[in-house]
Amino acid sequence: MSQIATNAQSVDELGAAPQLTALDRCDSCGAQAYIRVRVATGELLFCAHHGKKYEEKLSAIAESWHDESSRLLENQGA
Ligand SMILES: [Zn+2]
Repeated sequence: MSQIATNAQSVDELGAAPQLTALDRCDSCGAQAYIRVRVATGELLFCAHHGKKYEEKLSAIAESWHDESSRLLENQGA
């Protein structure tokens, strides 16, 4: 239980249940957040765009990476 997940790409930590709502907003642009990153100092929220933008930097320090951006694809269809 004390093991810290180092694989920041894990997206299925809690199955398909969405944890982010329309009230959760991107820290960078204020759009609806679909990505939640937990770091030592707290939590960061990002929209799909900014989540991808900062993923490379944050993945090094992220303790967990929760990504619901796939919901965007589902909602928008092909
Ligand atoms: Zn954003």
